[in-house]
Amino acid sequence: MDVVAGAACWGKGESMTLVYHGEAERGEIWRRIFADQAANIPFRLWPNIGDPAVVQYLAAWAPPADVIAALPNLEVLFCVGAGVDQMPLDSLPSHLRIVRMIEPGIVNAMADYVSMAVLCLHRDMPFLIAEQRAGRWTPRVPQLASERRVGVMGLGELGRAALDALAPHGFPLSGWSRTTHAIDGVQCFGGEAGFEPFLRQCDILVCLLPLTDATRGILSQRTFVLLPKGAMLVNAGRGGHLVAADLLAALDSGHIGATIIDVTEPEPLPQGHPFYTHPAIFLTPHIASETRPESAAAVLIDNLRRLAAGRELIGEVDRARGY
Ligand code: NAP
Repeated sequence: MDVVAGAACWGKGESMTLVYHGEAERGEIWRRIFADQAANIPFRLWPNIGDPAVVQYLAAWAPPADVIAALPNLEVLFCVGAGVDQMPLDSLPSHLRIVRMIEPGIVNAMADYVSMAVLCLHRDMPFLIAEQRAGRWTPRVPQLASERRVGVMGLGELGRAALDALAPHGFPLSGWSRTTHAIDGVQCFGGEAGFEPFLRQCDILVCLLPLTDATRGILSQRTFVLLPKGAMLVNAGRGGHLVAADLLAALDSGHIGATIIDVTEPEPLPQGHPFYTHPAIFLTPHIASETRPESAAAVLIDNLRRLAAGRELIGEVDRARGY
């Protein structure tokens, strides 16, 4: 069934249809929200797109195959996720603008996840759980947060939100990004020159980088050896950041103490993968944060209105950088 919410014209008067491509159940939620909040924006659910010639906007996790053949007048591809590594950026025409999703549902859930993971590692939960399971009562004097240095790789929307959430606990905080930032209460490092000094002082390292050619495999032996012995790791970026064999070797040598991993390559990990059973790996199935249509639709609607008004879009991807 074709689903069209509202009149065929809005903004400056052109016909500007948005198509949602994704799981039907989620699409239905998006459709209802658009009908409630932006009834004047023509909204259709893939594959019932009506006249392909009037479709200028597509919202999707990743575009369908041959998207340009299917939607010849497509102008903007709105990714419904925060990262765009799943988008075939190289094969999409250069005139197509790509916008990622920055919305409170993703940001707040990630701040919660990183807080949970850092506190869990900081308070020795991997050790305590193992002791409990072995039937042992093994008290240890807890380390103070003020003595545990936490470093975040990636100082974008999510990295900054994670640092904000960690700040009240009193951890000495640092961050590393491509360019050097200035953030109150956070020691900031930038680029290649800042990589080693940043890592040298991370007792807990959190990865919240986008996956690009420059960051693929960044959590490797080369990085691990620069961390203090016994450092711990949280990867909530993408599975492609981590070299699994290097992590297993670093854990088995004791150089890395424990790790919490939300993202893997591939997802799901195949049965029998060592990450499922390694005593120092705590694995969550890519649940750190997820786009909430309820809050994300408002962001998309705002962006469509910005487009109509010729204003800057929130979350536009720089295709040369890859994020
Ligand atoms: P963002 O706002 O684009 O920020 C990216 C940050 O990474 C920026 O600070 C950027 O540096 C830095 N960066 C990029 N390339 C770099 C490089 N080569 N070297 C050093 N720093 C580099 O992204 P975000 O919204 O925070 O999201 C980050 C990632 O989180 C997403 O791309 C996605 O992969 C992941 N994510 C995971 C989940 C989950 O459930 N696990 C959910 C949502 C998102 P500059 O500031 O200098 O540009």
